[in-house]
Amino acid sequence: MSAPADPNAAPSPSPAAADDAEAKRAFREILRWIGEDPERDGLKDTPARMIRAYREYFAGYETDPEEALRTTFTEVDGYDEMIVLRGVTFESHCEHHLAPIIGRAWVGYLPDRRVVGISKLARIVDIYARRLQIQERLTAQIANAIESVLKPRGVAVVVKATHHCMMSRGVRRHGADLVTSRMLGAFRDQPITRSEFLALVDSKSESA
Ligand SMILES: [Zn+2]
Repeated sequence: MSAPADPNAAPSPSPAAADDAEAKRAFREILRWIGEDPERDGLKDTPARMIRAYREYFAGYETDPEEALRTTFTEVDGYDEMIVLRGVTFESHCEHHLAPIIGRAWVGYLPDRRVVGISKLARIVDIYARRLQIQERLTAQIANAIESVLKPRGVAVVVKATHHCMMSRGVRRHGADLVTSRMLGAFRDQPITRSEFLALVDSKSESA
């Protein structure tokens, strides 16, 4: 990335542009490694397209998830019942194979005076999903961020996802999804609260 400084050279590219050039070379190398000709017509712009795609896949590193939750509302007329956003779709990538993890998340909490806009709940799923992940950590991170910023009486997160690294390589199993959950506060301590949430997760109209 860092060529020796040459005082006669054109202004050096921004660090991001320099990194792009290096990543492009690496993608071209991978194309060659799988047995392709990276110079052929159909592939010559592929490394540049991969850079743009990867920036989207991994945009989650650029945002502080807790910051995204900061705008909360307290004028809720004493609303203190469960708030559940169901079946938020997400696309992530596993950190072991960079293969897609495609799934949905159910995010619930029991507010303690403060609530957050529902779009923020979806946003928090997206920020963590757009990083290299394992599903267990993704689930825990979503719950922990909500707990740490909103300080609610409880948080519940269920994630159901299919892992492409399982479908297209290795054991090659289709149709199996992995279910993970993280229950905090009232959702962990009160079976009735947890059941109420899980009933919403399992309700037919919204199953993954
Ligand atoms: Zn994997």
